[in-house]
Amino acid sequence: MLSSDALGVRLDRATGARTGKALAKLGLHTVGDLLRHYPRRYAEAATLTDMSALGVGEHVTVVAEVVRTSLRTTGNGKGLLQSTITDGTSRLELTFFAASRRRLEWREEQLRAGRRGLFTGVVSLYRGTTQLMHPECRLFTTDDDPHEEDVALDEAERPIPVYPAFAGFESWKVAKAVRQVLDPLTEADVPDPVPADLRARDGLPTLLEALRLVHVPPDEAGWRRGRERLRYEEALVLQAELARRRARVEQEEAVARPPRTGGLLDAFDARLPFTLTPGQRRVGEEVAAELAAPRPMQRLLQGDVGSGKTVVALRAMLQVVDAGGQAALLAPTEVLAAQHARTLRGLLGDLAEAGTLDGAEQATRIALLTGSLPAAARRASLLDAAGGRAGIVVGTHALLAEHVQFADLGLVVVDEQHRFGVEQRDALRAKAGRTPHTLVMTATPIPRTVAMTVFGDLETSVLDELPAGRAGITTHHVPAGNARWTDRTWQRVREEVDGGGRAYVVCPRIEPDDVPGGSAQADDDEDGADLLAAVAGTVGSPGGAGTRPPLRAVLEVVDELRARPELAGLGIGVLHGRMPPEEKDAAFAAFASGASPVLVSTTVVEVGVDVPDATVMVVLDADRFGISQLHQLRGRVGRGGRPGLCLLVSRAVPGTDAHARLETLASTTDGFALAALDLELRHEGDVLGAAQHGRTSSLRLLRVTRDADVIDRARADARALVGQDMTLATWPTLVAAIEESLTGERDEFLDRA
Ligand code: ADP
Ligand code: MG
Repeated sequence: MLSSDALGVRLDRATGARTGKALAKLGLHTVGDLLRHYPRRYAEAATLTDMSALGVGEHVTVVAEVVRTSLRTTGNGKGLLQSTITDGTSRLELTFFAASRRRLEWREEQLRAGRRGLFTGVVSLYRGTTQLMHPECRLFTTDDDPHEEDVALDEAERPIPVYPAFAGFESWKVAKAVRQVLDPLTEADVPDPVPADLRARDGLPTLLEALRLVHVPPDEAGWRRGRERLRYEEALVLQAELARRRARVEQEEAVARPPRTGGLLDAFDARLPFTLTPGQRRVGEEVAAELAAPRPMQRLLQGDVGSGKTVVALRAMLQVVDAGGQAALLAPTEVLAAQHARTLRGLLGDLAEAGTLDGAEQATRIALLTGSLPAAARRASLLDAAGGRAGIVVGTHALLAEHVQFADLGLVVVDEQHRFGVEQRDALRAKAGRTPHTLVMTATPIPRTVAMTVFGDLETSVLDELPAGRAGITTHHVPAGNARWTDRTWQRVREEVDGGGRAYVVCPRIEPDDVPGGSAQADDDEDGADLLAAVAGTVGSPGGAGTRPPLRAVLEVVDELRARPELAGLGIGVLHGRMPPEEKDAAFAAFASGASPVLVSTTVVEVGVDVPDATVMVVLDADRFGISQLHQLRGRVGRGGRPGLCLLVSRAVPGTDAHARLETLASTTDGFALAALDLELRHEGDVLGAAQHGRTSSLRLLRVTRDADVIDRARADARALVGQDMTLATWPTLVAAIEESLTGERDEFLDRA
């Protein structure tokens, strides 16, 4: 983690082979690693002295005085030392065995009656007496007889660091190893990534001081001060990397793609069946201006579900095509990629039919490129992309493959970004002669601090209103297993369909035998489906193993629905990740056209799918899904002029977290509020990890939910540093820290790739 000669020393050398081996199990290999293994919390010494309430099996530290000590030889010739200690009220026995009595003589001397100290060990019960076997003893110094191992009396008042540890290698052993490597270090051994100017400005401790404060805190204020400085360092390293990255791309030249009057964009606007919202127009102008400049655009477009991000992206792509370039649209799933291609072709009509008899004069072509395309179609798409005939190439991560080439890639649009990392963006960028413009769109609204952390190299635009004329969505939480409610659910579906609507029915798995979040999920991951879903799977509470009925499965539910009287005569389709692509397309098309107005599926419809006539979203076992995911699912309905209805069916029991989540969803449709709540509810590492591979490996203390002020400050500081020296070479230790945090990230990316 840290790099310098002293910090790079291997732990087996620094602490001995045995300790080194144990620490390796915690993933700690060097002195630097160990020093970055921060205490999880601190126990106040005073709280550990209550000897009246020691539980058997607990690992405790008590402050006590020795009452008496006796040493003897047992029947089989071993040494046995027993000592009684007290805190003035309760008593506790200490027991030590050794091969011979002689080996315990020093211990007898150490534990003379009247001495006080800290005793650490696991509480056990022997013949009705609570005892500590082989405890660690740290006696307080006495004036007459200072002993090397003794601790100063004031140490008893110090907070005791509690480390992530494991059975057999307890926290205090970690603490001991930390002291062993930390005590001899000098400032010269510990280079500091935080530039001295910034440290001086804010009165921050040096890195070595901070490490001492967190590992050997004099008091609570001390460790707080140490942690604060380390947290700032994490934010600074991260923001410096993002700022440097941004500056580097800014230096690159892009091809200016100014709008052209009378081109495809104008034709598209003329055909648009609605007027743009003020937000779409505002962001559209920002984007248009940046595309027209010879510097690469680096923009993030945020907007709640249904706010109309796609249109903004399409208009940007058309501007680039009008200027003679190509645009690539990267979508997270095949369903979504196919839908984008369809939408584009639909909106462009003859403008997208270049090379055919029907094609308009200035027409272009839209190529679709996904992993499972038949060979011939794929070849045609590859040729259209490479030859420049396709102005717009829509695809999944198949677009990233090496053999995919463009004639003149001018714009990369990444839809529903949270599935793509920085590396993927770079991979696409590398396909362009000169740096292309980049527009990233997020699937879910994300809190500002997350945006700054994950997308800190991008400027952000926000679409903050939904298009007018949306009738809104009503959400109900429906208890499963209640026959009347179940009947009513399917009646409502029938009513909606009879009124011209369509209904999605989403299940957590495909087949009854599937392990949810296991194979079914993995299968849908094939077409890029949700990393977050895997997280959601762990969020959903199983509600007591063995007691709950099996989760609903697509293939089972579809049979049930086909047999239900309420739905008699309706076409009911199926969609999931294990179907061949043609079948997927066909099922989706039948749903969109109304031939099969009910679609039973997995979460493949979660993100971005747009069927304006869809009015009902029924989610079965809704407690198995995360908040953001449910918000996305719900966002599939109420997209046209008709009001949407979302029914979250679950067995969640009142009083549980799962129940509370569903109630919250039913109570608000504000995506930003839900995203913030979601982030609080789950381990945010998962959020960041899914959002950008491995980013979390360098974040130990920083919490994007809580530390907005730290992130703000670090971001401003990082931008100022990059302003002074774009390469950051003035601060080599900062650069080294960036490189190290990136190494972890890259490793993780490679692991997953
Ligand atoms: P998202 O931001 O979730 O990606 P979409 O871009 O898919 O949203 O847009 C949602 C729906 O709203 C689409 O059917 C789209 O055609 C429609 N839409 C977009 N902009 C407008 C607008 N200004 N007025 C009316 N409908 C719009
Ligand atoms: Mg979208």
